[in-house]
Amino acid sequence: MQGTVIKSSGSVYGVRATDGTVVDCRVKGNFRLKGIRSTNPVAVGDHVRFDIREDGTAYIVDILERRNYIVRKASNLSKQSHILAANLDQCFLVVTISHPVTATTFIDRFLATCEAYRVPACLIFNKIDLLNEEELQELASLRQLYESLDYPTYAISALRLQESELTKLFQNRITLLSGNSGVGKSTLLNAILGKDIARTGAISSAHHKGMHTTTFSEMYPLNNTSWIIDTPGIKGFGMLDMERQEMGHYFREIFAISRECRYSDCVHINEPGCAVNQAVVEGRIAFSRYESYLSMLDDITENKYR
Ligand code: GDP
Ligand code: ZN
Repeated sequence: MQGTVIKSSGSVYGVRATDGTVVDCRVKGNFRLKGIRSTNPVAVGDHVRFDIREDGTAYIVDILERRNYIVRKASNLSKQSHILAANLDQCFLVVTISHPVTATTFIDRFLATCEAYRVPACLIFNKIDLLNEEELQELASLRQLYESLDYPTYAISALRLQESELTKLFQNRITLLSGNSGVGKSTLLNAILGKDIARTGAISSAHHKGMHTTTFSEMYPLNNTSWIIDTPGIKGFGMLDMERQEMGHYFREIFAISRECRYSDCVHINEPGCAVNQAVVEGRIAFSRYESYLSMLDDITENKYR
Protein backbone atom coordinates (compact mmCIF):
# COMPACT_ATOMS: atom_id res chain seq x y z
CA MET A 1 0.00 0.00 0.00
CA GLN A 2 1.03 3.60 -0.49
CA GLY A 3 0.66 6.63 1.70
CA THR A 4 2.09 9.84 3.07
CA VAL A 5 3.84 10.11 6.42
CA ILE A 6 1.86 12.68 8.39
CA LYS A 7 3.26 12.12 11.84
CA SER A 8 6.54 11.02 13.32
CA SER A 9 7.23 10.17 16.91
CA GLY A 10 10.73 8.80 16.54
CA SER A 11 10.01 5.11 16.13
CA VAL A 12 6.42 5.06 14.94
CA TYR A 13 5.18 6.84 11.83
CA GLY A 14 1.58 7.70 11.12
CA VAL A 15 1.02 6.96 7.44
CA ARG A 16 -2.11 8.22 5.73
CA ALA A 17 -3.11 5.74 3.07
CA THR A 18 -4.71 6.76 -0.19
CA ASP A 19 -8.16 5.94 1.23
CA GLY A 20 -7.65 8.37 4.15
CA THR A 21 -7.04 5.86 6.93
CA VAL A 22 -3.99 6.42 9.10
CA VAL A 23 -1.81 3.39 9.85
CA ASP A 24 0.92 3.31 12.50
CA CYS A 25 4.01 1.96 10.82
CA ARG A 26 7.46 1.02 11.98
CA VAL A 27 10.69 1.04 10.11
CA LYS A 28 13.02 -1.95 9.91
CA GLY A 29 16.34 -1.46 11.69
CA ASN A 30 18.37 -1.99 8.56
CA PHE A 31 16.39 0.50 6.53
CA ARG A 32 18.78 3.22 5.34
CA LEU A 33 18.57 5.87 2.73
CA LYS A 34 21.46 6.25 0.36
CA GLY A 35 23.43 9.46 0.53
CA ILE A 36 21.96 11.13 3.59
CA ARG A 37 23.48 10.72 7.01
CA SER A 38 20.37 11.35 9.02
CA THR A 39 19.11 10.23 12.39
CA ASN A 40 15.67 9.54 10.95
CA PRO A 41 15.32 7.49 7.79
CA VAL A 42 11.74 8.57 7.17
CA ALA A 43 10.33 12.08 7.54
CA VAL A 44 6.93 13.74 7.63
CA GLY A 45 5.83 14.43 4.07
CA ASP A 46 7.52 11.34 2.68
CA HIS A 47 5.58 9.21 0.23
CA VAL A 48 6.11 5.60 1.25
CA ARG A 49 5.10 2.05 0.49
CA PHE A 50 4.11 -0.06 3.47
CA ASP A 51 3.05 -3.63 4.23
CA ILE A 52 0.60 -4.77 6.87
CA ARG A 53 1.48 -8.19 8.28
CA GLU A 54 -0.95 -10.88 9.39
CA ASP A 55 -0.45 -9.96 13.06
CA GLY A 56 -1.51 -6.43 12.22
CA THR A 57 1.88 -4.75 12.52
CA ALA A 58 2.79 -2.47 9.66
CA TYR A 59 6.19 -1.71 8.18
CA ILE A 60 7.43 0.96 5.81
CA VAL A 61 9.28 -0.91 3.07
CA ASP A 62 10.16 1.84 0.61
CA ILE A 63 10.42 5.60 0.34
CA LEU A 64 9.46 7.11 -2.99
CA GLU A 65 11.77 9.72 -4.44
CA ARG A 66 11.74 13.03 -2.58
CA ARG A 67 11.08 16.24 -4.48
CA ASN A 68 13.00 18.06 -1.76
CA TYR A 69 13.53 18.02 2.01
CA ILE A 70 14.83 20.22 4.75
CA VAL A 71 17.15 19.26 7.58
CA ARG A 72 18.55 20.50 10.81
CA LYS A 73 21.58 19.32 12.69
CA ALA A 74 20.63 16.46 14.98
CA SER A 75 22.43 18.25 17.81
CA ASN A 76 25.08 20.89 18.16
CA LEU A 77 27.85 18.36 18.49
CA SER A 78 26.62 15.99 15.87
CA LYS A 79 27.60 15.71 12.24
CA GLN A 80 24.35 13.94 11.59
CA SER A 81 21.29 15.59 10.23
CA HIS A 82 17.66 15.22 11.15
CA ILE A 83 15.23 15.49 8.27
CA LEU A 84 12.45 17.82 9.35
CA ALA A 85 10.13 17.27 6.41
CA ALA A 86 10.07 16.23 2.79
CA ASN A 87 8.17 17.21 -0.36
CA LEU A 88 7.49 20.82 0.57
CA ASP A 89 6.11 23.68 -1.49
CA GLN A 90 7.16 26.44 0.90
CA CYS A 91 8.63 27.22 4.32
CA PHE A 92 7.22 29.95 6.54
CA LEU A 93 9.15 31.25 9.52
CA VAL A 94 7.19 32.95 12.29
CA VAL A 95 9.29 35.64 13.96
CA THR A 96 8.74 38.41 16.51
CA ILE A 97 10.45 41.77 17.01
CA SER A 98 9.74 41.48 20.75
CA HIS A 99 8.11 39.01 23.19
CA PRO A 100 10.43 37.21 22.42
CA VAL A 101 13.09 38.87 20.30
CA THR A 102 13.97 36.78 17.26
CA ALA A 103 17.66 37.15 16.39
CA THR A 104 18.44 38.06 12.80
CA THR A 105 21.06 35.30 12.78
CA PHE A 106 18.23 32.85 13.41
CA ILE A 107 16.20 34.31 10.52
CA ASP A 108 19.18 34.22 8.18
CA ARG A 109 20.06 30.66 9.10
CA PHE A 110 16.54 29.61 8.23
CA LEU A 111 16.60 31.48 4.92
CA ALA A 112 20.03 30.14 3.97
CA THR A 113 18.87 26.61 4.74
CA CYS A 114 15.84 27.10 2.50
CA GLU A 115 18.14 28.38 -0.27
CA ALA A 116 20.41 25.37 0.08
CA TYR A 117 17.49 22.97 -0.21
CA ARG A 118 15.73 25.10 -2.82
CA VAL A 119 12.46 25.61 -0.98
CA PRO A 120 10.72 29.00 -1.31
CA ALA A 121 10.69 30.83 2.03
CA CYS A 122 8.80 33.69 3.59
CA LEU A 123 8.78 35.53 6.92
CA ILE A 124 5.75 36.15 9.09
CA PHE A 125 6.27 38.87 11.70
CA ASN A 126 3.79 38.11 14.48
CA LYS A 127 2.51 39.99 17.55
CA ILE A 128 2.57 43.38 15.87
CA ASP A 129 -0.14 44.46 18.30
CA LEU A 130 2.51 44.49 21.04
CA LEU A 131 5.01 46.75 19.31
CA ASN A 132 5.87 50.29 20.44
CA GLU A 133 6.99 53.08 18.15
CA GLU A 134 10.62 52.07 18.12
CA GLU A 135 9.83 48.40 17.55
CA LEU A 136 7.47 49.30 14.71
CA GLN A 137 10.37 51.05 13.04
CA GLU A 138 12.52 48.00 13.46
CA LEU A 139 9.74 45.92 11.92
CA ALA A 140 9.62 48.26 8.96
CA SER A 141 13.35 48.17 8.40
CA LEU A 142 13.59 44.39 8.69
CA ARG A 143 10.71 43.95 6.29
CA GLN A 144 12.40 46.31 3.89
CA LEU A 145 15.67 44.40 4.16
CA TYR A 146 14.12 41.01 3.42
CA GLU A 147 11.74 42.29 0.74
CA SER A 148 14.75 43.83 -0.99
CA LEU A 149 16.18 40.30 -1.14
CA ASP A 150 12.91 39.07 -2.67
CA TYR A 151 11.66 37.26 0.42
CA PRO A 152 7.96 37.97 0.93
CA THR A 153 7.15 39.26 4.43
CA TYR A 154 3.88 39.59 6.31
CA ALA A 155 3.07 41.44 9.52
CA ILE A 156 0.21 39.97 11.56
CA SER A 157 -1.39 39.41 14.90
CA ALA A 158 -2.14 35.71 15.09
CA LEU A 159 -4.62 36.41 17.89
CA ARG A 160 -6.69 38.44 15.43
CA LEU A 161 -5.97 36.72 12.18
CA GLN A 162 -8.08 37.83 9.25
CA GLU A 163 -8.44 36.40 5.82
CA SER A 164 -5.67 37.94 3.79
CA GLU A 165 -3.07 37.41 1.13
CA LEU A 166 -1.16 35.39 3.72
CA THR A 167 -3.98 33.00 4.64
CA LYS A 168 -4.59 32.36 0.92
CA LEU A 169 -0.97 31.30 0.54
CA PHE A 170 -1.69 28.12 2.48
CA GLN A 171 -4.18 26.93 -0.14
CA ASN A 172 -3.25 24.00 -2.40
CA ARG A 173 0.24 23.77 -0.99
CA ILE A 174 2.31 21.89 1.54
CA THR A 175 3.71 24.46 3.94
CA LEU A 176 6.28 23.97 6.64
CA LEU A 177 5.71 26.29 9.58
CA SER A 178 8.59 27.00 11.89
CA GLY A 179 9.70 29.46 14.53
CA ASN A 180 11.29 29.78 17.94
CA SER A 181 9.06 28.72 20.76
CA GLY A 182 6.83 31.48 22.08
CA VAL A 183 6.50 33.40 18.82
CA GLY A 184 2.89 32.29 18.31
CA LYS A 185 3.30 29.44 15.86
CA SER A 186 0.60 27.28 17.48
CA THR A 187 -1.73 30.25 17.70
CA LEU A 188 -1.28 30.89 13.99
CA LEU A 189 -1.67 27.23 13.10
CA ASN A 190 -4.90 26.99 15.07
CA ALA A 191 -6.25 30.18 13.55
CA ILE A 192 -5.58 28.92 10.04
CA LEU A 193 -6.94 25.44 10.65
CA GLY A 194 -9.90 26.92 12.47
CA LYS A 195 -9.54 24.55 15.41
CA ASP A 196 -7.38 23.92 18.45
CA ILE A 197 -5.34 21.22 16.94
CA ALA A 198 -1.69 21.91 17.67
CA ARG A 199 -1.89 22.17 21.41
CA THR A 200 -4.62 19.63 22.12
CA GLY A 201 -2.78 17.17 19.88
CA ALA A 202 0.31 17.42 22.03
CA ILE A 203 -1.44 17.20 25.37
CA SER A 204 -3.97 14.45 24.73
CA SER A 205 -1.57 11.70 23.71
CA ALA A 206 -0.57 9.72 26.75
CA HIS A 207 3.17 9.78 26.69
CA HIS A 208 3.31 13.46 25.81
CA LYS A 209 1.27 14.31 28.84
CA GLY A 210 2.19 17.63 30.36
CA MET A 211 4.45 18.62 27.51
CA HIS A 212 3.61 21.98 26.11
CA THR A 213 5.56 21.69 22.92
CA THR A 214 5.44 19.03 20.27
CA THR A 215 8.79 17.34 19.86
CA PHE A 216 8.27 15.88 16.43
CA SER A 217 6.97 17.18 13.16
CA GLU A 218 3.35 16.66 12.26
CA MET A 219 1.34 17.38 9.16
CA TYR A 220 -2.19 18.83 9.47
CA PRO A 221 -4.80 18.97 6.72
CA LEU A 222 -6.38 22.31 5.97
CA ASN A 223 -8.31 20.53 3.23
CA ASN A 224 -7.58 17.72 0.76
CA THR A 225 -4.94 19.64 -1.12
CA SER A 226 -3.52 21.92 1.58
CA TRP A 227 -1.32 20.70 4.41
CA ILE A 228 0.63 22.44 7.11
CA ILE A 229 3.66 20.83 8.71
CA ASP A 230 4.27 21.92 12.25
CA THR A 231 7.88 21.53 13.32
CA PRO A 232 9.13 21.71 16.88
CA GLY A 233 11.06 24.82 17.97
CA ILE A 234 14.26 24.51 16.06
CA LYS A 235 17.60 25.99 16.92
CA GLY A 236 20.00 24.15 14.69
CA PHE A 237 18.92 25.05 11.18
CA GLY A 238 21.74 24.50 8.82
CA MET A 239 23.37 22.44 6.19
CA LEU A 240 25.91 19.74 6.58
CA ASP A 241 28.89 18.57 4.59
CA MET A 242 29.37 21.91 2.97
CA GLU A 243 32.50 23.59 1.70
CA ARG A 244 33.31 27.08 2.96
CA GLN A 245 33.17 28.52 -0.55
CA GLU A 246 29.61 27.29 -0.89
CA MET A 247 28.10 29.29 1.95
CA GLY A 248 28.02 32.51 -0.07
CA HIS A 249 25.65 30.84 -2.52
CA TYR A 250 22.89 30.77 0.08
CA PHE A 251 22.90 34.49 0.87
CA ARG A 252 21.30 36.00 -2.21
CA GLU A 253 22.97 39.41 -2.08
CA ILE A 254 26.37 37.98 -1.17
CA PHE A 255 26.12 35.56 -4.05
CA ALA A 256 25.21 38.32 -6.50
CA ILE A 257 28.09 40.56 -5.46
CA SER A 258 30.66 37.78 -5.10
CA ARG A 259 30.97 37.59 -8.86
CA GLU A 260 33.02 40.79 -8.62
CA CYS A 261 35.49 39.40 -6.08
CA ARG A 262 39.07 39.15 -7.36
CA TYR A 263 39.40 35.46 -6.48
CA SER A 264 36.81 32.94 -7.53
CA ASP A 265 37.29 30.96 -4.29
CA CYS A 266 36.91 34.09 -2.11
CA VAL A 267 35.06 33.40 1.16
CA HIS A 268 34.68 37.12 1.85
CA ILE A 269 36.53 37.42 5.12
CA ASN A 270 39.46 39.73 4.35
CA GLU A 271 40.81 38.64 0.99
CA PRO A 272 42.27 41.33 -1.25
CA GLY A 273 39.80 42.60 -3.83
CA CYS A 274 36.76 41.19 -2.04
CA ALA A 275 33.69 42.90 -3.45
CA VAL A 276 31.51 41.60 -0.61
CA ASN A 277 33.67 43.26 2.07
CA GLN A 278 33.50 46.47 0.07
CA ALA A 279 29.70 46.24 -0.18
CA VAL A 280 29.40 45.71 3.59
CA VAL A 281 31.56 48.79 4.24
CA GLU A 282 29.44 50.83 1.86
CA GLY A 283 26.18 49.56 3.35
CA ARG A 284 25.01 47.82 0.18
CA ILE A 285 24.99 44.55 2.15
CA ALA A 286 23.33 44.75 5.57
CA PHE A 287 25.78 44.20 8.39
CA SER A 288 23.33 41.84 10.14
CA ARG A 289 23.31 39.61 7.07
CA TYR A 290 27.08 39.58 6.85
CA GLU A 291 27.29 38.71 10.56
CA SER A 292 24.95 35.76 10.00
CA TYR A 293 27.06 34.67 7.06
CA LEU A 294 30.20 34.70 9.22
CA SER A 295 28.53 32.79 12.03
CA MET A 296 27.43 30.05 9.64
CA LEU A 297 30.92 29.94 8.19
CA ASP A 298 32.28 29.45 11.71
CA ASP A 299 30.04 26.41 12.12
CA ILE A 300 31.57 24.71 9.11
CA THR A 301 35.07 25.37 10.36
CA GLU A 302 34.25 24.00 13.80
CA ASN A 303 32.68 20.88 12.33
CA LYS A 304 35.62 20.21 10.06
CA TYR A 305 38.27 20.34 12.77
CA ARG A 306 36.41 18.67 15.57
P1 GDP B 1 4.46 28.90 20.03
O1 GDP B 1 5.37 28.45 21.13
O2 GDP B 1 5.22 29.59 18.95
O3 GDP B 1 3.56 27.86 19.51
O4 GDP B 1 3.59 30.07 20.67
P2 GDP B 1 2.07 30.10 21.14
O5 GDP B 1 1.15 30.04 19.96
O6 GDP B 1 1.88 29.12 22.21
O7 GDP B 1 2.01 31.59 21.72
C1 GDP B 1 2.78 32.02 22.80
C2 GDP B 1 2.03 33.13 23.52
O8 GDP B 1 1.94 34.29 22.68
C3 GDP B 1 0.61 32.73 23.87
O9 GDP B 1 0.31 33.27 25.14
C4 GDP B 1 -0.22 33.41 22.79
O10 GDP B 1 -1.53 33.73 23.23
C5 GDP B 1 0.58 34.68 22.54
N1 GDP B 1 0.37 35.21 21.19
C6 GDP B 1 0.39 34.53 20.03
N2 GDP B 1 0.17 35.35 18.99
C7 GDP B 1 0.00 36.59 19.49
C8 GDP B 1 -0.27 37.87 18.92
O11 GDP B 1 -0.39 38.07 17.71
N3 GDP B 1 -0.36 38.93 19.80
C9 GDP B 1 -0.21 38.76 21.14
N4 GDP B 1 -0.33 39.85 21.90
N5 GDP B 1 0.01 37.58 21.71
C10 GDP B 1 0.14 36.49 20.92
ZN1 ZN C 1 34.82 38.10 -1.61
